Amino acid sequence: MMRFDGKVVVITGGAAGIGLATARLFHELGASVVIGDIRDALDPEAEAAFGGERMAYRRVDVADWDQMQALMDAAVEQFGGLDVLFNNAGIGALAQLDDLAVEQMHRVMDITFFGAFQGCKAAIPIMRARGGGAVINMASISGMAGDFGFAAYNAAKGAVLNFTRSIALENARAGVRVNAVCPGPIDTAPKQNLARIPGAIDTWEGSVPMGRFGTAEEVAGAVAFLASDYASYVTGTTLVVDGGMMAHTGQPD
Ligand code: NAD
Repeated sequence: MMRFDGKVVVITGGAAGIGLATARLFHELGASVVIGDIRDALDPEAEAAFGGERMAYRRVDVADWDQMQALMDAAVEQFGGLDVLFNNAGIGALAQLDDLAVEQMHRVMDITFFGAFQGCKAAIPIMRARGGGAVINMASISGMAGDFGFAAYNAAKGAVLNFTRSIALENARAGVRVNAVCPGPIDTAPKQNLARIPGAIDTWEGSVPMGRFGTAEEVAGAVAFLASDYASYVTGTTLVVDGGMMAHTGQPD
């Protein structure tokens, strides 16, 4: 039930962080993996971990519709189909409304929301024609509530969540399941930026009931579950992977 032998998985933003950890997990579980990322190439070390088999890398900007169509076509051409799509790529912008430039807002929406929209639009018809598939859209707990100075990201991830629900309904009878994951703070590149602010890591860890950042592998496990046959009756929902953060109203102890 948790094997993906013979399945083809496309992952956007798969050259680093959560995307790369998820690509590795699906590969370990037997899938052929197509990684799309805006970087020119995969790190040689990251590439070596795939052992030269069942992995293809393609440079893609998820904000570009033609490139997203070409990514899905490449998966079909190279590995003979498309069974799972993880729309993972996303960016944020740290600015409150007065300082949030219109262009910044557009860029966040173009990558974080339109990337997921374009992934679904390009991949789901291919899945339907094959009789089914699974899409997992990367959202965030920041799509479930607001944050100070993060409105663009909150809006884009919130859009991903509600878009996921509608697309799940539209495709439920065609056998294509569409779900979202909502991680809390995860130990990837954004944490390294945070580490430059004195005390910030301690403050963040203190706000997580489990008292720590999650790992990219812990999110990858949730994505693999949603893609697997164990989740065969799960569609249109949100899996929160946040060490308990969203279970808290925010009221002091
Ligand atoms: P990361 O920076 O480690 O990886 C992001 C990857 O996306 C990079 O390889 C980058 O090159 C790629 N990318 C960026 N723009 C792209 C584009 N336009 N087209 C294609 N690829 C692009 O970050 P991460 O923490 O692994 O984040 C992955 C996803 O998880 C994002 O959508 C992020 O919003 C979400 N998320 C992260 C956290 C966290 O705490 N790290 C929490 C919740 C949600």
